[in-house]
Amino acid sequence: MHLPFFRLAWLAALLLLAGCSTTPARSAAGRTGSDQTGSEPAPLLLISIDALRADYLGKGDTPHLDRLARQGVRAEWMNPSYPALTFPNHFTLVTGLRPDRHGVVHNTMREEGLGDFRVADLAAVGDGRWWRAEPIWVGAEKAGLPTAIWAWPGSAAEIDGVRPTRWKPYDESVSAARRADEVARWLEEPAATRPRFAALYLEMVDGAGHEHGPDAPQTREAVREADAAVGRLIDALARKRLLDRVNVIVVSDHGMAAVLPGHVVAVEDMVPMEDATIVSIGQSVGIAPRTGRVEAAEKRLLGRHDHYECWRKGELPARWHYGRNPRVPPIVCQMDEGWDAIPAANVAKRPPGATRGSHGYDPALPSMRAAFIARGPAFRKGIVIAAFDNVDVYPLMVRLLGIPARENDGDIAPLLPGLATDK
Ligand code: AMP
Ligand code: ZN
Ligand code: ZN
Repeated sequence: MHLPFFRLAWLAALLLLAGCSTTPARSAAGRTGSDQTGSEPAPLLLISIDALRADYLGKGDTPHLDRLARQGVRAEWMNPSYPALTFPNHFTLVTGLRPDRHGVVHNTMREEGLGDFRVADLAAVGDGRWWRAEPIWVGAEKAGLPTAIWAWPGSAAEIDGVRPTRWKPYDESVSAARRADEVARWLEEPAATRPRFAALYLEMVDGAGHEHGPDAPQTREAVREADAAVGRLIDALARKRLLDRVNVIVVSDHGMAAVLPGHVVAVEDMVPMEDATIVSIGQSVGIAPRTGRVEAAEKRLLGRHDHYECWRKGELPARWHYGRNPRVPPIVCQMDEGWDAIPAANVAKRPPGATRGSHGYDPALPSMRAAFIARGPAFRKGIVIAAFDNVDVYPLMVRLLGIPARENDGDIAPLLPGLATDK
């Protein structure tokens, strides 16, 4: 889809670089990416805490993250891209492209000739044909900077013929503390082998939020666990006198909204199964009318309903920047905040009376707000910056690494007030 362009843009970037007298890494490191002595480029560490809602911070559950924010920069919040789901937003964070443009348009997708993509299908998740834009670790590797990635969505795939120098598969059985220790060890290596870009993914806050809801004690406990893992990593870097020489960015992909008991719609009640197939369920519901049944499916679906609204893919609200990608099914139904759409068989399995949590709602909702914290030699200290869109993180990161930016939807401007130099 974006591949021919992909190559062309890379060639253009190479030609540009050929005209530079310094290597890309050094030239930008001198601006914002280097450590305070200027002797060695500062590595960049990107940490994602899945579903860490912006307002989970500062409530007593996140002492380490709050300290990081006090010593660096915190955004009031960060807006996720549509749909506010894990895989689309993780790929947005590392490409600067909205999901409609990078092609990971949902956690569940279908493409003719390629089949079905599901988060739980590790073969699909590791298949580069689903990941058709260049994540920052591929750009870094192409520029000669070693990268090391712990389970960031997409990092198990070879993309454009490139893999991270080191990568760890998604594995929930490895504790957050062990992951933190390993990532710290990567960054403690001698300059020759130390990754210049490292990333870590933590899923426990998302899991607890889904199971128990955003306000549950179990979710607060998961937040404390993720916070402790970040603290452990930060302390390890501090012990080795590396902390002030690493730029650390902590993000989340989206927030979490409470789903009250009974707030669920059966997808079979949205449209008869003889009229359409359901491509994706949940909160952003993708529906493909069957051959000859387009009119019937549209008549039933398009417009406003109790708890959801449906559009043809080309007619979704413009602010979502969504619906042009061939992977987006012909009809998209957006559930209202706090409502899920699932198969009737699963509705019956939901424990009665239990509050759950979901995301995937309108990214403009306060409940969907993601977190952003950054600390290190490139950042000012004790600054709170206004909210921005998550596409803006990529232009910041390529600048810190000093590598060419691929074409993207982001803008570094909202982040400039947080940078120590180059305002
Ligand atoms: P979501 O419901 O959109 O938040 O999906 C999040 C889920 O995706 C997590 O709870 C994990 O089970 C799964 N997941 C996250 N990262 C990966 C990965 N790198 N590979 C496979 N599955 C992942
Ligand atoms: Zn997520
Ligand atoms: Zn989730």
